[in-house]
Amino acid sequence: MDDLLYGTRDKRGNWAPNEQAKPAPIWQRPFSLRKVLAWVPEYLWPWNAFHLATAIIWVTLLIPSWESLATLSITNYLWLYGLNAAGLFVFLGSFELIYYVKRKQGNRFKYNGKFPSENPSDVFWFKSQNIDNFLRSFFITVPLWTVVEIVMLWAYANSWAVWLPWTTHWVWLTVVILLAPAVHEIYFFCLHRLIHTPFLYKHIHSVHHNSINPSPWSSLSMHPGEGFPYMAEAWLHLLIPSNPICAYFTLHAAGFGAINGHLGFEKLELTEDTTLDSHAYVHYLHHKYFEVNYGGDGVVPLDMLFGTWHDGSKEADEKMKARFRKKKEKQNSRKPTATPAE
Ligand SMILES: [Zn+2]
Ligand SMILES: [Zn+2]
Repeated sequence: MDDLLYGTRDKRGNWAPNEQAKPAPIWQRPFSLRKVLAWVPEYLWPWNAFHLATAIIWVTLLIPSWESLATLSITNYLWLYGLNAAGLFVFLGSFELIYYVKRKQGNRFKYNGKFPSENPSDVFWFKSQNIDNFLRSFFITVPLWTVVEIVMLWAYANSWAVWLPWTTHWVWLTVVILLAPAVHEIYFFCLHRLIHTPFLYKHIHSVHHNSINPSPWSSLSMHPGEGFPYMAEAWLHLLIPSNPICAYFTLHAAGFGAINGHLGFEKLELTEDTTLDSHAYVHYLHHKYFEVNYGGDGVVPLDMLFGTWHDGSKEADEKMKARFRKKKEKQNSRKPTATPAE
């Protein structure tokens, strides 16, 4: 497929889409009902439908019995860790294998013309982004993900959280599922904005930002101080009347769903003329420019509200640069001026 029909490539080989990133049609003006209706299937399919499917599979087929989950046990923890690690390995690994190892579509639709393996750097463990990101994901974030998960199951198993059955409360539980991606965006924006404050950025979030050219393994490559609160979003379900499937939907959308921002490609070519939209551009721009797009891709446009939205256009670039200049001037004016020598 010719990616130059959809975007442009600069002389360094970096590709950018012609179309600017836009928030969800419910926030676009003038309001168009046609656009909103056309967007609904895209909101659900295929990514959120996949997270819901894995949530159902985990709860109905894979987790240990509820009796055994009522006490915290190391055997259950290891089983749950194994499931998460295997699931993540297969899911992220498939994208890594097809698009980064075999490079099935070369660099067509790839924002950054280079592949991480071509850029060894001292900021990474073993100088390799791939090894560093892989080890951090599987030996830091996935163990913390599993802590969040086993505590959540323990709370449900002991009836410390309100567990509504689907048979009687399916309307409310459907609303919870439909709102969960929007809640995720608000939660992620707040946490992400917080860890961009200078102290937390330096000591915690900079680990994730080492990957300026993110790839699938970058998705959960985080400092534990980020990985734990990031995954703990699922605990919000313990505070409202909900259900383990809804809680797992949030958990898996955070865990498996982190890949969306880190695929590195705008579109994945499935066949000669079918593609899958990655929804990666907005977060790719965050990895490129750091102080823009703290949220997701605009289901709830908090970045627009706070003036940090970058849609990939030249105008957004200028706006961002003006904001950086203003910030620098403010910082400079705070610096004490040297006393002239007498
Ligand atoms: Zn990221
Ligand atoms: Zn960040």
